[in-house]
Amino acid sequence: MFAATSATGRFSGPPGTSGTPIDKTLGELRQEYGTAAFFHAKIRGHARTSYTGPMVCVACGYDLHVDVSHIKHVKDFPPEATLREVNDQKNLMALDKRCHWEYDHGYLALVNGQLLPVGR
Ligand SMILES: [Zn+2]
Repeated sequence: MFAATSATGRFSGPPGTSGTPIDKTLGELRQEYGTAAFFHAKIRGHARTSYTGPMVCVACGYDLHVDVSHIKHVKDFPPEATLREVNDQKNLMALDKRCHWEYDHGYLALVNGQLLPVGR
């Protein structure tokens, strides 16, 4: 864990993440952010600034228009999980737009550390 926490309990890690309520739970953030769209946008934005790995798709090697994606989907965490857990480095990987969509829709699966096509 690379994160440093200040006396306020707020994250003071990489640039762009100061003030992010990393120790708040998904339930608290969902309430705070109001709409599901805003909630997910904030989670994604935080993941992107937290991620320190190469911006190269781990599935195919493409390196333009790459997303930071969650290995365990945000929806699969309980409301008690904190943003710190959800956006932990170990739960983040780079995927380009197509591979991200395929992963989120079950056409790519992580098998022994490798992303492999499934279900087609
Ligand atoms: Zn890809």
